[in-house]
Amino acid sequence: MFDKVLIANRGEIALRIHRACREMGISTVAVHSTADENAMHVRLADESVCIGPPSPADSYLNIPAIVSAAMITGADAIHPGYGFLSENAQFAEIVEAHGITFIGPSPDHIRMMGDKVAAKKAVKAAGLPVVPGSEGAVEDIGDALKIAEEIGYPVLIKASAGGGGRGMKVAESADTLEEMITLAKRESKAAFGNDEMYMEKYLANPRHIELQVVADGHGNVVHLGERDCSLQRNHQKVLEEAPSPALNAEERARLGRVGTEAIRNLGYRNVGTIEFLYENGEFYFIEMNTRLQVEHPVTEMVTGIDIVREMIRVASGAPLSLTQEDVELQGHAIECRINAENPVTFAPSPGKLVDYHPPGGLGVRVDSGIYSGYSVPPNYDSLIAKLIVHGGSRNECLMRLRRALEEFVITGIQTTIPLHQELVAQQDFINGDYDIRWLEAFVAGDR
Ligand code: ADP
Repeated sequence: MFDKVLIANRGEIALRIHRACREMGISTVAVHSTADENAMHVRLADESVCIGPPSPADSYLNIPAIVSAAMITGADAIHPGYGFLSENAQFAEIVEAHGITFIGPSPDHIRMMGDKVAAKKAVKAAGLPVVPGSEGAVEDIGDALKIAEEIGYPVLIKASAGGGGRGMKVAESADTLEEMITLAKRESKAAFGNDEMYMEKYLANPRHIELQVVADGHGNVVHLGERDCSLQRNHQKVLEEAPSPALNAEERARLGRVGTEAIRNLGYRNVGTIEFLYENGEFYFIEMNTRLQVEHPVTEMVTGIDIVREMIRVASGAPLSLTQEDVELQGHAIECRINAENPVTFAPSPGKLVDYHPPGGLGVRVDSGIYSGYSVPPNYDSLIAKLIVHGGSRNECLMRLRRALEEFVITGIQTTIPLHQELVAQQDFINGDYDIRWLEAFVAGDR
């Protein structure tokens, strides 16, 4: 097992990883930008190293600075968290080349899943159903028109290098296809420096359902059930729950079976999330994330399994500490992502917190690095806290979530707590009756 882990991230996830290390008797090294000098992950870590100025490119994405920090402090492993360098295959390679363990999958798997055209081909060969669409990248407009005709309009044009919903455009008919491809290419080039595109059938009202997997590279693959992440705005998840209110036991078992089988066929190691769209009883693979997810706590709450601990264990070469039979789903969990944003316009709201009082009590978990007097810097993602609530049933979970949201006090900045309060009072949400379009319609006042 490792003696010392460097955490190459910030905010709540840096703290989350620190907690797992602490409970495993592993010392931690925090890295931080000058804007995060007073951050909680820096205060709690055994050691800390400043790696650069506030701009992410100069700090949390600065590979030489992070690897140097690991060398200087004698860390044996680096945990990348999510975002930043977590899905950068080159970073994983450089870390390993310096004799430090990268806590994540192999660089080859990161690279494969980061190229969405390659990923779709690979998982299809490994046995997963995919969204009908182009076999590979779209060559030119002639090719695109032909494929769109075959799969039927509307079609979704997606970037091979895609992420965060960027470089994605819908074409309703042949009349707009060329224009949409041009727009999507431009957006993708600007965001990823790559304009390779592929096409998929645009599903009208699917749900986003994803499967959490963990594999040890010794042939053991276990899934920890699914999460429903259909409540999204601009393709960004806002609230997640486990299990999905849409699946029955047979569908759940089928998803788990095909997912673990594919992961075994791919020879994948460490944790991963296989994302699907689900419509009319069918699952369609859209992408695989080769890292820890923001929403992993809902799975932890219903399984009682510490996912970060398993990640660290398997990265150290240990076998999984559990088998599929050990995984038992208990009750229901919901996570609300609380952002430092205006709850109506979603404009960022950085600045100094005055009061901070998180909710507590049975079944309530808050993952956050903020505290009274903390200043939310304007340079990073606006996620400042995750409220995760567990209950014996979905109804108990909902009641508990309502009271926890009522107790939550954050003053001095604006947050999305009022949005979540409204959301959990909606009849459609209470009924579990929503899809990936529901939240945007709700925010626009159409529901
Ligand atoms: P990214 O990597 O940019 O997040 P994804 O492939 O994961 O892209 O898709 C993000 C979101 O876009 C999905 O959760 C879903 O809401 C929507 N989406 C993706 N593919 C389709 C599709 N074929 N039809 C309808 N919506 C889609």
